[in-house]
Amino acid sequence: MTSDSEKPETIAISVGRMSEEHFGTVNTPVYRTSTILLPNVASLKSGNAPYVYGRRGTPTTRSFEDAISTLEGAARTVSLPSGLNAIATAIMSVCRAGDHLLMVDSCYGPTRHFCDTVLKRFGVETTYYDPSIGADITSLFQANTRAVYCESPGSLTFEIQDVPAIAEAAHARDASVLMDNTWGTPIFFPALKRGVDLSIHAATKYICGHSDVMMGTISANEKHAKRLSDFVGELGLYVGGDDCFLALRGLRTLPVRLKRHQETALRLTRWLSGRPEVSRVLYPALETDPGHALWKRDFLGACGLFGVVLKPFSDKAVTAMIDGMRHFGIGWSWGGYESLIIPSEFERTACKFNAAGPVIRVHAGLEDPDDLLADLEDGLARLRSS
Ligand SMILES: *Cc1c(COP(=O)(O)O)cnc(C)c1O
Repeated sequence: MTSDSEKPETIAISVGRMSEEHFGTVNTPVYRTSTILLPNVASLKSGNAPYVYGRRGTPTTRSFEDAISTLEGAARTVSLPSGLNAIATAIMSVCRAGDHLLMVDSCYGPTRHFCDTVLKRFGVETTYYDPSIGADITSLFQANTRAVYCESPGSLTFEIQDVPAIAEAAHARDASVLMDNTWGTPIFFPALKRGVDLSIHAATKYICGHSDVMMGTISANEKHAKRLSDFVGELGLYVGGDDCFLALRGLRTLPVRLKRHQETALRLTRWLSGRPEVSRVLYPALETDPGHALWKRDFLGACGLFGVVLKPFSDKAVTAMIDGMRHFGIGWSWGGYESLIIPSEFERTACKFNAAGPVIRVHAGLEDPDDLLADLEDGLARLRSS
């Protein structure tokens, strides 16, 4: 149990701890098992033993899932083999053939691909909506609309959504609200309190935090918990103890790491905002960001991931800038300890994203902020001179 007065740093230290069952060890050990021996036939038939078979969970997986549930204020959390799998699983747990899904236009690219391929094949129709829609989402509802999916801020373009208004409109039509909460993390966006029914994380990113695990989670409120847990069981989805152990180890330092990521990102984004090569910075924690008021109302912080819209420079100039970086690696993913930078490409079908020039995405890692700033300064010089 946690009390409201306890801060995330404190809570993250002990959530999911099972010391009493493990000779006082502070970390729940890694259980590698398929078979779990039961005392007798009655116990086997009852199905009531706390652990019955590896695929249905071990103390290691349960430790991690309980920890996320506590931080999310959820009735149940399930762990999945990747963030994308968590997204697919969450959607399929609520939608069936003949249903309609409202999907935010600024969603993570592979989420769109999943909707346009697998979901379509299984008879679920997707309509994309403008991330700034708010309560007006009501106008897009059809008789068969089963769920509304949010991602705030949006992938690559960082629009903040009015999640509470969307959730209220959805619940009035008895539709479920799903959200990709990877950017906000369980620390900075209390999704369930804001009206979300299923909060999804690419745990690969900040939760694991060390770029050594692929994992996803879905946290459900009371109303959605059984259906989600049954569905994961029916599909036989499972994450091994080694990965859950690493994820829980990452989680212990999540609030501390986030503080530093935020500090560095604020420093870099403020500096970039004043640079002549930059058209605008996409980071809702900046007072000048169009999503700032909503972010301030609903979020408790901002992570280290942001976008930069450059002035109209050529692809060649952007490539020269990025290729020459010393501390910012070129790679997918984010949320680890390391700084990253990529050129952004994204698709829109419901609305337009206005950008004066090329868009890049930056992850501010845990390196010294002065070193990162100097690296960016040299990068902008290459951008200008190419
Ligand atoms: C990376 C990412 C995912 C997918 O996570 P994987 O673990 O790579 O499958 C989902 N949503 C967002 C916003 C992401 O950035």
